[in-house]
Parts: sequence; C-alpha cells; structure tokens
Amino acid sequence: MIIMKVGTPKRNVQAVIDRISSLGLRSDLSEGETRIAIGIIGDESRVDFGQIRAMKGVIDAIRIQAPYRLMGREYIPEDVVFNVGDVSIGGDSILYIAGPCSIENYDQIARIGDGVKEAGAHILRGGAFKPRTSAHAFQGNGEAALKALARVGKELGLPTITEVRSESHVELVAEHADILQIGARNWQNQDLIEAVARTGKPVFYKRGPEAQIQEFLGFAERIVIEGNKEIILCERGIMPIGGPFHSITRNTLDLSAVPVLKAETPFPVVVDPSHATGRRDLIHPMSMAAIAAGAHGLMIEVHDRPEEALSDGAQSIHPRDLARLIRDGNALHNLMRSFQS
Ligand code: PEP
Ligand code: MN
Repeated sequence: MIIMKVGTPKRNVQAVIDRISSLGLRSDLSEGETRIAIGIIGDESRVDFGQIRAMKGVIDAIRIQAPYRLMGREYIPEDVVFNVGDVSIGGDSILYIAGPCSIENYDQIARIGDGVKEAGAHILRGGAFKPRTSAHAFQGNGEAALKALARVGKELGLPTITEVRSESHVELVAEHADILQIGARNWQNQDLIEAVARTGKPVFYKRGPEAQIQEFLGFAERIVIEGNKEIILCERGIMPIGGPFHSITRNTLDLSAVPVLKAETPFPVVVDPSHATGRRDLIHPMSMAAIAAGAHGLMIEVHDRPEEALSDGAQSIHPRDLARLIRDGNALHNLMRSFQS
C-alpha cells in the first residue's frame, strides 16, 4: 500500500500508478478524507518500496500482511457508505431488508412487498434462483420471479435484492435487481464472486457456515479487486454443533462477527437472523442482539401465509411482526448511538 498526501497533483498520483503497472501489477486507488491510498494488486515483492517512497507526494509505502489488503481498515480507514436509490447503506444509518424466501408468484410478492414497505423496510428481498439441499424441493421461479420482483420494487419504490446462484445467471439477474446476493453456499465460488462484482451493482455477500472471518474477507477482497466497492457483508449463522440436522437452531448466529468485521473492514455489516436461527420465535431477540452488537442492518424473511410458503415458512415472520421489529430496532439503534457520542 502506498500512502500519498491529500491534494497531490494528479500527475504525481498517476506516476505511482504507472510505476506499478510497469512492473506488470495492477493497482487500486482509494481517495479518503485524510490521505490518498494506492493498493497494489498482485505480487508486491516485485516492488522496490524504497524507490516508491522517494516519489513525489508519497508519504509512505508499507506491506500489508492480511490476505485482504484492499478490504482492510488499514487501507480504507473511514466507513464505506453508499446509496442504492434513496437508501443509504452503512455508517450511522440502519437498514432493513425484508421479503419472502422465495418469490412464488406476482400476487404473493406484491402482497408481502406492500406489507414490508408499510412496516418500514427499505429494500425488498425475494429468491428467484434458490439454492436447495434437496433436488426435489422447490428451486425457485427463475426469470418470472425476477420480473415480478422488479415490477413490485418499482410499484412500491423499493430497491430490490435477489440471489445469483450461478455464473450463467449473472447478466439476467443484474438486469432485474438492484443488489446482487451471493449466498452462503457460494461463498467460495471465486468465479461467481468476480462475475457478480464486475456488474458494478452492489454485492450482498454472505458468510459461509464454515467460513472463518479471514477466509470470508479473503474471498470478499476479489470484489474490490474487480473495482467494486459497494459491498455489504452478511453474517447468517455458522455451522451448529452436531451439524445442521441435529441442532435446535438451523445455524449458530455468530454475533461476535459483527464487531470483528467492523474492526477489520470499513464495509457495512448486515445480520440475517432468519437463516441463522431457522425459527420465527428467535427473529426478534436475535435482531435486537445484532443491533446491540453494532450491525448496520438486518435481512429478515417475511411471509403473510407462512403455512403456504414454498420455502422457509418456519423462519418467516408476518409483516405486522416486522413492523414491531423495525420500531423496536430503530429505538435500540438510537439508544446505541447515544452511547457512542
Ligand atoms: C437466502 O437468503 O435466501 C438464502 C438462501 O440464504 P443463505 O445463503 O444464507 O442460506
Ligand atoms: Mn430462505
């Protein structure tokens, strides 16, 4: 990483970038409030840091040891905040993403969309290409579901998010949704991560149930390397003791991931208590715990007729329960902010 003074003439910044590319390496430019940072992408052992330090405008040149150099606070010290439509993500605001696990038909997503908007959610979720353990379970309604989600999003003025399960769907999903989700089962799918990042759309990246934080960020780094800094990191529960078929909860919510991720990286962190617990009765307490731990937002599965849901009915809450969750969540978030100031 090369640190330069704020206000350094562009030609001097360019000279450093050119020097890096003359060595066959790529670079990333991050212009913060207090400094300009240039990250080296690739084998930095080829770089003579002494020579770089001698270039105009350079304050320092240091090696970052972590596997996620460009994701780290060392490289980007200030919180990353960005907008999707009118919705601000990261920093001091709190974000509620809500909707059904699967989009079953237009009427269902329209009804639930109404409910979550009324409850105060900012972003509408819904699965179109579902990753399922059983080949015999409902796999999602594909393109028809994407179109229904996009239509309801427009009708309600809510940005949308849906999962991209396969590299072959990237273009299609990017055409219809505002935020692209990479699911827990795909957390190590390097090609998918890179392809999704290259769309330039914000990426909602879920931690895998077996992923250590360092590994999770190591893979997330690829999103930044593709030139995309609109990233939301999601904690959605890790492998429970005894495995997923024996545990009383679907996964184990790793709340410590929230402050750890916030310390390690400047990117927004969202908690998904629905997949973390698999149980409707645990959504409210775990949502409050996530906000108390400092999460920038929540992703909640919502269904108005959970007994008819084609997937994840048992962990879906009713829109009126979402309204209460958001009311309580906002109150708690304000209280947390008063502690910090
Ligand atoms: C989902 O959000 O619909 C989903 C499948 O979650 P996860 O990838 O966390 O299991
Ligand atoms: Mn689900």
